[in-house]
Amino acid sequence: MARKKQFKAESKRLLDLMINSIYTHKEIFLRELISNASDAIDKLYYQSLSENDSAVDRSAFKIHLDIDKENRALVISDNGIGMDKEELEENLGTIAKSGSLAFKEGLSEEEKKDEAVDIIGQFGVGFYSAFMVASRVEVLTKKYGSDTAYEWSSDAVDGYTIEEAQKDSCGTTITLYLKDNTDDDNYDEYLQQYEIERLVKKYSDYIRFPIEMMMETQKRVDEETAEGEEKPAEPKYETVLELKTLNSMIPLWKRNKSEITKEEYNEFYQDKFNDFHEPQRVIHTSVEGAVSFSTLMFIPGKAPYNYYQQDYKKGLQLYSRGVFIMDNAEELIPEHFRFVKGLVDSQDLSLNISREMLQHDRQLKVIANRIEKKIKSELLLMLRNEREEYEKFWNNFGLQIKFGVYNDYGMHKDLLQDLLLFYSSKEEKLVTLDEYVARMEEGQEFIYFMSGDKIENIDQMPTVKKVKDKGYEILYLTDNVDEFALQVLGSFKDKKFKNISQGDLNLDSEEEKKELEKKAEENKDLLGGIKEALGEKVKEVKISSRLVDDPVCLSSDDGMSFEMEKVLSAMPE
Ligand code: ADP
Ligand code: MG
Repeated sequence: MARKKQFKAESKRLLDLMINSIYTHKEIFLRELISNASDAIDKLYYQSLSENDSAVDRSAFKIHLDIDKENRALVISDNGIGMDKEELEENLGTIAKSGSLAFKEGLSEEEKKDEAVDIIGQFGVGFYSAFMVASRVEVLTKKYGSDTAYEWSSDAVDGYTIEEAQKDSCGTTITLYLKDNTDDDNYDEYLQQYEIERLVKKYSDYIRFPIEMMMETQKRVDEETAEGEEKPAEPKYETVLELKTLNSMIPLWKRNKSEITKEEYNEFYQDKFNDFHEPQRVIHTSVEGAVSFSTLMFIPGKAPYNYYQQDYKKGLQLYSRGVFIMDNAEELIPEHFRFVKGLVDSQDLSLNISREMLQHDRQLKVIANRIEKKIKSELLLMLRNEREEYEKFWNNFGLQIKFGVYNDYGMHKDLLQDLLLFYSSKEEKLVTLDEYVARMEEGQEFIYFMSGDKIENIDQMPTVKKVKDKGYEILYLTDNVDEFALQVLGSFKDKKFKNISQGDLNLDSEEEKKELEKKAEENKDLLGGIKEALGEKVKEVKISSRLVDDPVCLSSDDGMSFEMEKVLSAMPE
């Protein structure tokens, strides 16, 4: 008997969660396992194509499902690439290679449940979802090109074992020994062929390899009636076993848009990109021309938990004629739209294209260009026609767009400036620069803005009150990057941006100016005294018309604003 190994701590926690099955959609385990099987076949398919390996019969690729009622087991087999011992250990002994799974301490049971659903959403449930329905899981696998097969098995609770085993051909066979039924859950469902068929159709229809199962069907056995002869009054049926392909095998992106339901898109997205949330937007297009391609892209409904962290991987999946080539092809998506998930399928790309080649591939550049334009136009449409939706998008990814304006020395500002939203003092909601400019007062020279940590706080600033009183609209900037973005933009529709806490605003009428001069003259000694007392700390002390109700305010010179100074001094050297 092989020694039992324990799961890594984080895996253990996720496993506990699976076993205790907080998750309500248990049935998705099948989708997860089928998608893994399909990935494994994809890998072998691609390897055999790119290495010109004639030993692989690509027409024989398939996923096979078996219902074993006697043992209350469901078996999922594939003839994909399989795993060697190290891979078994690495892939099924640890989870969430991409991030750490940290349950917060001291949560109530209810909060833990929410947290769990969240975590499942973030990581995707993957292989471990098997334990939502199975009390024991066996994985028999043999790597392509290897002579030795291995069996991994686990009841989750006591860890897992890996032993050498017998298997004729390469690929993986996963056996799920179903849990005992409880008052709440009937696991026998998954021994019903029609239920399995339904689940395959629902979740895995587009998988491009056949998903087969032996099915009991009623066959009429008295059909051999000769022509002209009358059919017998009582038709005869017999139950026969037939191998049936359960899925249509047409990739979703190859299907006609008008025939695809929202649910299908959503399922596809959630499955493929491991997102618990529905996508906010689906962008599905086909382009014919010098370079032909189809693309199916999604704007996530919520920013991934690691979106602003280093381990977030941007990029689209790349397919050539329906054959999966690689994940996260970064070159397909510009940095400022890195939140977009999806795939591109093109017949004009070589199957042998490598990551290194992507950067130089001309076709790919054309595709990337089209994709960037398409995303922009989709966002603009949303902004114009569905403002609330756009604001939702903005809450998720607006920061990215603002960084996009600022990054690369403003190279993308023309593309992105129309997508910007800022909070307006006048409208008391988010507005576009275009809307601001269209509303500008007669003779208003600048687009005014003011930075601060919170809308409410900015609104209380003395300078803001003054400018508002004069009837001008002010944009309130609350993100660190905002001011940098505006500085890079410089102007919008020939209107320069102006920080109202900086320099002379020139908002006073001639009369007001005269009044001010008079006051300055009268208080000359006082001002001089203050300047003397503050010394080098300030550049100048003057009487200002900046204030309405407040006695003093600090304002900066025309160079860098206080907010930018704060940001810069907070940056690592
Ligand atoms: P993901 O599919 O997101 O990588 P999973 O938890 O579903 O995460 O699977 C973990 C890993 O286990 C996979 O990445 C793959 O390397 C391996 N694996 C799972 N099922 C199979 C299979 N049927 N054949 C080969 N490898 C598999
Ligand atoms: Mg998976």
